Amino acid sequence: MNQHHHIENDDKYSGLTVNSGVTQPPSVNPYLKPRRRKPLPTSGELVEGILKGDVTILSRAVTLVESLSHEHQAIAQEVIEKCLPYSGNSRRIGITGVPGAGKSTSIDVFGLHILKDGGKLAVLAIDPSSERTKGSILGDKTRMERLAVHPSAFIRPSPSAGSLGGVARKTRETIVLCEAAGYNNIFVETVGVGQSETAVHSMVDFFLLIQLAGTGDELQGIKRGIMEMADGIVINKADGDNVDRARLAQAQFRSALHLFPPTMSGWIPEVLCYSGYYDLGIAEVWEMIDRYFKFVKDNGYFERKRQEQARYWMYETINEQLRNHFYSNPEVERLLIEKENRVLSNVQSSFTAARDVLDYYFTQK
Ligand code: GDP
Repeated sequence: MNQHHHIENDDKYSGLTVNSGVTQPPSVNPYLKPRRRKPLPTSGELVEGILKGDVTILSRAVTLVESLSHEHQAIAQEVIEKCLPYSGNSRRIGITGVPGAGKSTSIDVFGLHILKDGGKLAVLAIDPSSERTKGSILGDKTRMERLAVHPSAFIRPSPSAGSLGGVARKTRETIVLCEAAGYNNIFVETVGVGQSETAVHSMVDFFLLIQLAGTGDELQGIKRGIMEMADGIVINKADGDNVDRARLAQAQFRSALHLFPPTMSGWIPEVLCYSGYYDLGIAEVWEMIDRYFKFVKDNGYFERKRQEQARYWMYETINEQLRNHFYSNPEVERLLIEKENRVLSNVQSSFTAARDVLDYYFTQK
């Protein structure tokens, strides 16, 4: 037998014997057919599924919306166009706050609160900074444990990568699909840093700012622009020892809001305290939001704002596509490097360099 030839089976070694191995089966299963890529669904199939509220099909359509491939985009745009007549029937609510403010905890309880009365909720996000791994918002569904398993909730992480404008446009398009699928509540979450608030603000009806009480200098850290956009400011973690501080912060925010010019809607932003974790004051927050919707629907601002937003996104999309078309032209790319060098070494002025590149772009065949 083979094993007797192995040197460790020599008499001077005792104990274990080394057995000969068995022949390994081939590592590739010969019976396995190479996996075919699933054929792309047609826009008609997708629209039909979406209108039926089929979540798997909705997810697939959203994936196409987010895709960079031209083929996918072509289908996605058809789907969006066909869903448009069925969209619009929802309350679109933007939710922002710095990391740790309690956005996910709150969205979980807010979501359960509104779903008690029936209806459906889609939670989307805009987080252009994230490469998913870096603790991105909504990166993992476990952040909203109860909503994640709720049959009437659809949670979708932020489209990854790309410019803020691109990421935001995809989220806006996803809103259309979700509404066509019957989601009558849409949350758009964003992290309270950078420019993403402006993008979210331009696609929602109500903008909720989650704040924390704490160090006594709350107001300093807040970017004025964000506070000005808020229709409601809610101070989270008003529980335990923190209640007094939360109340103090509430008073500070209220007086700070007086310094701002009146809002376009005529609505006076409210400031409330609540605790997402302990489920305190949630109903009050939603009563405020209900009041807001009634107010802006009665005074016509709701419709006006949506129209304004539709126009805004038309121009945003044009701008973005023009930019992409320009910068993805290989000759433009080459020229830009050349011109940049000339500008940096003072051989050419910025203006004539820009003009040369644009001249090339506009006169190319
Ligand atoms: P996000 O980064 O804004 O999404 O914040 P999270 O929802 O992940 O919350 C950050 C931390 O704050 C977590 O440890 C939560 O458990 C905690 N937290 C959230 N809401 C509350 C609250 O109402 N009260 C207290 N005491 N802690 C909370």
